[in-house]
Amino acid sequence: MTTEAIRHDHTQASGTLPFLRFPDPARLFLERSRRFAALAEGHSLADWLLFLGRLTLAQHELLQAYPSLPLPDEAALSFFRNHGLPPISATAWPRDPCWREALNSLAQTLMAHAPSPAQETLKRIRTMDGAALEAIADQVLRGEFGGPDRDSIPFVAAALQVHWTSLAVELDPRAVAPLDTPGLCPCCGFLPVAGIVRMDGEIAKLRYLHCGLCNTEWHLERVTCAACREGNRIAYRYLDGCDGTVRAETCDGCKRYLKILYREKAPEADPVADDLATLALDLLVDEAGYDRMSPNLLFVP
Ligand SMILES: [Zn+2]
Ligand SMILES: [Zn+2]
Repeated sequence: MTTEAIRHDHTQASGTLPFLRFPDPARLFLERSRRFAALAEGHSLADWLLFLGRLTLAQHELLQAYPSLPLPDEAALSFFRNHGLPPISATAWPRDPCWREALNSLAQTLMAHAPSPAQETLKRIRTMDGAALEAIADQVLRGEFGGPDRDSIPFVAAALQVHWTSLAVELDPRAVAPLDTPGLCPCCGFLPVAGIVRMDGEIAKLRYLHCGLCNTEWHLERVTCAACREGNRIAYRYLDGCDGTVRAETCDGCKRYLKILYREKAPEADPVADDLATLALDLLVDEAGYDRMSPNLLFVP
C-alpha cells in the first residue's frame, strides 16, 4: 500500500459553483449498473459484482416508474433550513409504504439471477409482513447492520435508495442548505458512501461527497476529513499496482477513512460500484488502524 500525506486545501465551491449536485434519474442507476459489469471483468469477485449490476439495473427500472410523492411544503422547508435539518431526513421524514412494493418487485426481478443463498433471502423478503420490513428499514436508515435479518439488508437498502433518490431529484436546490455537520447529506442526513473528485467543466478538481442513500452530492473542500473536519492529519492510501482511481482518505485526528474517486483517472467511476470493487483497500486500511466512516448499503461486512 502506498501512502501520501497532503496538506489542507482550501479550494471552495463558491460564487456560481453549485454546492449541491442532484442525480440524473435517467442515468444514475443505469450507469452504475454498467460500471459494475465493467469492473467485474477479470475480478476475483466477478459473480457478485455482476449480480450487483443486475440489482442496480432493477433499481433503474423501478426509478423510471416510481410514483410522485409529497415533499415538505414551503413552511416546512423553511423550518428545516433555519434549524439546520435535512428536508427529507432518512429517519424523520414519513416513509410512504410504496417503497415496500418496490422491494417486492426488486425481489421478483432478481430471483432468476440470484445465487442460491440470495434466492432464499429474496423468497423470505417476499413473505415478510409490512411491520417486519419497516423494522429492517428503520435499522438500515439508522446505519445498523446486525441482527437476524442482516442478509436482507442490501435488498431493503436498494429499495430505500430508489425511494429517497426519487424524493431528492424533486427538491428545489434553493430549499436545501448546508448542515452544521459537513459529513452528512444536506438532503436526507445520511452518510456519504464515498467522495468524488469531478472533472466536468466548471467544477473540475472539486471534491463532492456522494450520499449513500439519496445519491445527492455536496461539496466539501479537499483534504478535509468528512467525519471530524480535520485538515492537517490527512493521508491518501491506495493499492500498489492500481491506477489510483480509488484512494482512501485517512484521518489521524479521528482514525477514520472515506474513499475518494478520481474521475480524471476513470471518467465512468461510480462511488458505489468502485467502492465495492476495491474491498482489498478497505482490508489494508483497516489493518493500518482506521475505521470506515460510513457503510456501502449494498454490502453487509
Ligand atoms: Zn442523501
Ligand atoms: Zn477525522
